[in-house]
Amino acid sequence: MQGTGTFLTADLNDSQKAAVTHGEGAAVVFAGPGSGKTTVLTRRVLYLLEQGVPPERLMVVTFTRAAASEMKNRLAQAAGRSLSGLWIGTFHSLFLSLLRRSGRTVPRLLKETEQTQWMRQLLIEREQPADDEAVSTLLNQIGLCKGNLILPEQLKVKKEKNILFRDMYQAYESRKQMSGVWDYDDILVETYRLLQNPRQQSVWCGYWEHVLVDEFQDINRVQFETLRMLAPPSGNLFVVGDDDQAIYSFRGSDPRLMQEVRTWFSPCRTIVLSTNYRSTESVIALGQRLIRHNRRRQEKTLNGTGKQGPDPVWMEPADEEEEARQILARLDDGVETAVLYRTSTQARAMIDALVRADVPFAVAEGDASFYRRWQVLDVMAYLRLADNPNDLDALVRIINKPKRYLFGEDWMDQVWTLFKKTGQSLLQVLADLPGLEPYQRRLLQKLAADVAALRGMNASQAVAYIREQIGYDAFLSSFAQDTGNDESTVKEPVEELAVAATQFSGRDELLHHVTKVNEVVSYRPEQPRVHLMTFHRAKGLEFDRVFLIGLHSMVLPHRRSLQVPEHKKAEAWEEERRLLYVGITRARRELFLSVSRTRQGKRVAPSPFLREMGFAGGSDRKEGAAEEEQRRPSVSVSVSSSRRPQPQQKFHGEPVRVGDRIRHVKWGEGEVIEVAPIGGVAPGRKVVIRFSTGVQSLHYELSRQLG
Ligand code: ATP
Ligand code: MG
Repeated sequence: MQGTGTFLTADLNDSQKAAVTHGEGAAVVFAGPGSGKTTVLTRRVLYLLEQGVPPERLMVVTFTRAAASEMKNRLAQAAGRSLSGLWIGTFHSLFLSLLRRSGRTVPRLLKETEQTQWMRQLLIEREQPADDEAVSTLLNQIGLCKGNLILPEQLKVKKEKNILFRDMYQAYESRKQMSGVWDYDDILVETYRLLQNPRQQSVWCGYWEHVLVDEFQDINRVQFETLRMLAPPSGNLFVVGDDDQAIYSFRGSDPRLMQEVRTWFSPCRTIVLSTNYRSTESVIALGQRLIRHNRRRQEKTLNGTGKQGPDPVWMEPADEEEEARQILARLDDGVETAVLYRTSTQARAMIDALVRADVPFAVAEGDASFYRRWQVLDVMAYLRLADNPNDLDALVRIINKPKRYLFGEDWMDQVWTLFKKTGQSLLQVLADLPGLEPYQRRLLQKLAADVAALRGMNASQAVAYIREQIGYDAFLSSFAQDTGNDESTVKEPVEELAVAATQFSGRDELLHHVTKVNEVVSYRPEQPRVHLMTFHRAKGLEFDRVFLIGLHSMVLPHRRSLQVPEHKKAEAWEEERRLLYVGITRARRELFLSVSRTRQGKRVAPSPFLREMGFAGGSDRKEGAAEEEQRRPSVSVSVSSSRRPQPQQKFHGEPVRVGDRIRHVKWGEGEVIEVAPIGGVAPGRKVVIRFSTGVQSLHYELSRQLG
């Protein structure tokens, strides 16, 4: 490193310089995407090192491990030396080191699969539904409590449901204690506890001369309180964040802490950065157009640098496969590209297309686990049996899916011995097994015949046959019913598989493909031509070209994110809007927003957020009954203006103005926030109204139907 701070800040603007060279005391850098928050934070670390702060007295908190390792590399490179003493990492990794340094023995950490198993057992013991969703909801709620430092005994509950929750929470905690293990949240809670001890406090409070935190909007209560103990009130806490990019409230993060930090640390300087260096003017404009529909946010200026580029492109491919093909066709020019999606199943078609074309790509393994979902493995087992009727593993997997009433393991030994002796196929031996009840024999004969029938079919026909004729779909329905799971969630993987199968002619082609996908996704190519990830994982990153795919209604906002109490709905909508905003603002230059006409073979409507950004396509696209919740209202709008005495005037053709209060039969009371012409296939005017459940954009012409 050469020179002084000047060298480090030469290419920065004045506000950025001020942030990098900020002196003593706390500072909050509050700014929109691409404005250089992470840049400033990294430079400030270099600046502080240059000022003589020893690396071991600096703590830098990043949101992900990947971000930490990237920042570490950058710092080491810029500093021209190893910075081994520097405390840099996620809250979890830093606090883990702190605990160890304090002599605290950290026990084994509970794996996610173990956590799930425990929870399921606890539910079953209490004769409660123990389906996947119940388990994950419960674990989330426990995580939320711990993130907010609420112990089971502190829960004040009256309702039976909540009493049950407290009981489960308590049981989970004591089981952990008895087994001598921790979950990940315990790392945070235990660090907080450790610092309650005055002796420890005297060691750690003020130990770090500077604490710096990136992505501060996604911090939770326990992290915040621990930080407060580490950095004294007049301490050197430097945080950067953007409330519009808070996307982890389901894990207990709370963007309001960005405000609270200013009351705890005093004096606290606020630095605003208002130039987006990342994106072209049109990308910035699109993001702004969307995010201003959020109500709970701090208004902030975000100017571009005048960078020009192509307008964002709306894509309306026929289906997911077509979407993947269109993207694939654009990967040849070597432009750095990312494909982002809301849920990992949506990556399936893209991954298939890339694997088929042998294009190197990077994806998190979790996002690529579609072909390892249990429903998919079941259907695959039938296909494997068709290929090889002596595949015992496959047979065991599907023997009772649907039920054929062959339980226990005795039959396996018998079948295997007879199979060896007679040389007949496994399925044949099975159907002829002595001692079977007539109904069992009938079912097993049918199985043998069905598997034989599959042999003459291509991949797509076979999948359809397994679902309908063999009765796998009916099995899933009754499974969903028995376990209290949501039926469409349980069936989603087979719906998706049916679409996937259309791309292959032979069954063995599909089977080979699956093996290949599972191999390919487990290693990271050195030069991926495209990066695939969820909106959540894309936080903080940037790419020259970004595709946002699968922007359907019920996906954004996601169906499950709206399964919250009525008074939380509006917040849930806003968080989903922020998620899309994070996606949009990853693009430096080229942005594609794609919403296929069908998904998993069914016609689907675009996400309601697209209209907020002026998407005029898809007007011919019918919405299904299941999408009622997100449906743009198509009937009776009645308006009352706050300026006029009449409370509920009809809305037939008379001008509506921004600021008018209106009442809508479905959405309740709202305020008109925009009246604008809309182009494209639906000419006329559009009225954007903010209801308590979210912003709706209504077609002005609709009012005509009222009379
Ligand atoms: P996000 O909110 O998405 O995390 P951010 O505020 O952290 O964004 P950065 O990632 O630090 O923004 O910066 C965005 C891009 O702008 C980076 O490519 C960075 O190198 C560039 N950049 C930042 N400041 C400047 C500057 N003063 N001049 C030129 N480029 C800059
Ligand atoms: Mg950043």
